[in-house]
Amino acid sequence: MIDTLDIKITQTATSRIDEVDFSNLSFGKTFSDHMFVADYEDGEWKNFQIVPYGDMSFSPAMSVLHYGQAFFEGLKAYKHADGSVALFRPYKNADRFNRSAVRLCSPELPRDIFVQSIAALVDLDKAWIPKSAGDSLYIRPFMFSTDPYLGVSPSKTYKFIVLTCPVGSYFSKPLNVKIETKYSRSSEGGFGFAKAAGNYAGSLLPAQEALKEGYDQLIWTDGKDHAYIEELGAANVIFVIDGVLVTPSTRDTILEGITRDTILTLARNWDMPVEERRVSVKEVIETLKEGKMTEAFGVGTAATITPIASISLNGEKYNLPEQGPADFSKKALKTLNEIRYGHTADKFDWNYTV
Ligand SMILES: *Cc1c(COP(=O)(O)O)cnc(C)c1O
Repeated sequence: MIDTLDIKITQTATSRIDEVDFSNLSFGKTFSDHMFVADYEDGEWKNFQIVPYGDMSFSPAMSVLHYGQAFFEGLKAYKHADGSVALFRPYKNADRFNRSAVRLCSPELPRDIFVQSIAALVDLDKAWIPKSAGDSLYIRPFMFSTDPYLGVSPSKTYKFIVLTCPVGSYFSKPLNVKIETKYSRSSEGGFGFAKAAGNYAGSLLPAQEALKEGYDQLIWTDGKDHAYIEELGAANVIFVIDGVLVTPSTRDTILEGITRDTILTLARNWDMPVEERRVSVKEVIETLKEGKMTEAFGVGTAATITPIASISLNGEKYNLPEQGPADFSKKALKTLNEIRYGHTADKFDWNYTV
């Protein structure tokens, strides 16, 4: 399946794999031996290459450094018990990458090139995929504008690069979070739905302030009135209220997470009622007060499911019950892991074998 894309492969002379302590991996610091690189020039994608991971040189006038045409994706590859390697729902990432591209006035990348470039890279560096339970290979595809030109206009040249990082199981203790009522991550008509680097730049200061106030993370609310819940940091947020899975419906201010879709699909398959709709701050606080909210958690590729221990609004803290194995979030995580590691039938066809 990967021979349709003509990739020039230059292998590293000396692998760095023996320098890596696979029992102690921290997220995003260890890079595998190779990276995929392609160029967009003269209106087309070209120069598909896999080269040793390493520094690159660029013009200081490069447009992305000034005007920020940059966006990315995040997905994972898992090693199955039978030794095969699978990417989890990569075409969903390909489609979202192109939605980001369109909004940031950048060229789309054909979805087969996106998936095949990743498959080829992961195949070459498959020795880097850790095998322990919970471990995986995190894949970071990204695109940025490269014209050495300070005029404000869409760049004519771009690079598409894919990096991979072995990552350990990401354990997070239940989070104490606050509902953000001053800053916003995105606004109507903006590009909150895109996985744009700029969305992250703007979220750093609010997150730092939340940390200083003693919270682990913040819940974003709508940019207009701070009356509706949007996301949990860089993850989507899901609540269980009166036995119903409730989550903010996606819109141009909310990133449409693939983990979100995966979890909602599992819930529907288990005949659990699911509501995708606007969720007001008022509803969250009232159902917490009345004890009707039994679970709240963030969902995203990096951490999969992150439980929330408490939610605060204007300094007033409301606790959630401690989660046990019978709770939805625990069951969903268990089932999702069984699918991702090939321990059970992949009935939704989510695994893409490399
Ligand atoms: C990446 C991301 C998510 C989670 O998306 P997944 O596809 O589940 O990884 C949610 N919110 C934001 C802002 C993100 O950048």
